[in-house]
Amino acid sequence: MLVDSAFGCGIIKACGLGDVAQLVRAPACHAGGRGFKSRHSRHFVEFGDMFCRKIMDVVINKAEVLSVADVPVVAAIAIETEIISICQNEVEILKNPLCHAEFLAIESALKCLETKYLDTASLYVTLEPCSFCASALEKVRIMEIFFGAYDPKGGAIFHNSKIFETSTIKPNIVGGIQETRCSAILTNFFKQLREK
Ligand SMILES: [Zn+2]
Repeated sequence: MLVDSAFGCGIIKACGLGDVAQLVRAPACHAGGRGFKSRHSRHFVEFGDMFCRKIMDVVINKAEVLSVADVPVVAAIAIETEIISICQNEVEILKNPLCHAEFLAIESALKCLETKYLDTASLYVTLEPCSFCASALEKVRIMEIFFGAYDPKGGAIFHNSKIFETSTIKPNIVGGIQETRCSAILTNFFKQLREK
């Protein structure tokens, strides 16, 4: 077991696809971000709870240090303070166009939890999910979605098909979390790619 000093807690490798981190719930505080409230939500977490910010930091930190050929997107599935799975985009690594970070994190979490739905879980991701991932999130009935950079071209949460606007599944959604930082990860990646 590795000890993550940022949280003073243990991180263990699980499910073959990601890490499991035990995070400690901290007092709520407030942070930016645009969100809308689910009509059917059991509870609404403004993106201000300290543990939400910590999980998002884990996800962004991981995306910032990726040094592979794939577009750097990282996604985690968490239930309250516990990260169940955390995965990166592996389309190029695995030569599989379905291997988006969110999809891999969903698959890993389902496997870990041995469940069919993630209706008590939250997704944290550095980029607005695309239509494929948004559909997958709808299918697993995700409870909350927290994402960093908006993606006007490929995003399907606040852009294009806006999947949850017409769905019976209504997760709590907050976008634009640490947007500048998350956008910079992608901008830098594509800049480096052009310079190669
Ligand atoms: Zn996707």
